[in-house]
Amino acid sequence: MLTTGKAILDVANEHSFAVPAFNISDWAMFQGIVEISEETNAPLIVAIHPDEVKHIGPDMITGIISRAHRSSVPIAIHWDHGATYHEVLTAIQYGFTSVMIDGSLKPFDENIAITKKVTESAHILGVSVEGELGTIGGNDSYAEAGAAEIIYTDPDDAVTFVEQTGVDSLAIAIGTFHGFYPAHLKPELKLDLLKEIKGRLQIPLVLHGGSGNPDDEIREAARIGINKINISTDIKVAYHNKMREVLGNDPKVREPNAIQPACIRAMQVVAAQKIELFGAAGKGSLY
Ligand SMILES: [Zn+2]
Repeated sequence: MLTTGKAILDVANEHSFAVPAFNISDWAMFQGIVEISEETNAPLIVAIHPDEVKHIGPDMITGIISRAHRSSVPIAIHWDHGATYHEVLTAIQYGFTSVMIDGSLKPFDENIAITKKVTESAHILGVSVEGELGTIGGNDSYAEAGAAEIIYTDPDDAVTFVEQTGVDSLAIAIGTFHGFYPAHLKPELKLDLLKEIKGRLQIPLVLHGGSGNPDDEIREAARIGINKINISTDIKVAYHNKMREVLGNDPKVREPNAIQPACIRAMQVVAAQKIELFGAAGKGSLY
């Protein structure tokens, strides 16, 4: 069924697991992700970035909502990295049940102000809000907006931010990177920092840029306090690597229904690994 981000994440918070938020901008990939979530009985957040919304158009959002309504697992439709108040209102109008407002590159006071404004309006309309504090790096043009380096989330600031904005969940910077990891950075999560922040905040915490970090660190992060993990790069790479292989150099290979199924399966293998790693498999029964 279609539900809100808060309804999905509060259960994950209570039962110490993380819900995968898979970035979607293509119908075949969306169908494949819903299928594997139902097969593994895992709650799902369908994340769509503003650039992805631009690519697919609002009509496909209607289709996504319709499919979510008849799913056997809870699904939230999440606007990833909302930049402005206007943009978030548009997302709510489209029918998103969860929105992110990312003011993390603004000064602290401005981040609080925009996040508070978005949260007040979204809550009136029954939509959940994710804020972000600290900066998660990002370096290629396909990755989401981010700084070149990681600025770790300060626990005192996190407490102030949540108190003053009323957000439902918070994305924190503890050592992940959007897109591919740059050569000079070693992927390493600061799990002690996560423990400290989780000890002081009761709300679900979110990890962005979760592709590329070692599995054991991600598993531990989901166990000790992260409740939503964004995955974009890893599923898209699996899908398109398989597509390159299927296409080869043969111009006669042209029908989507002959090309896409193998790509979907390759993507589903990766998605299923993430679902398992995050502790989300079978958790659909908790809802
Ligand atoms: Zn992100």
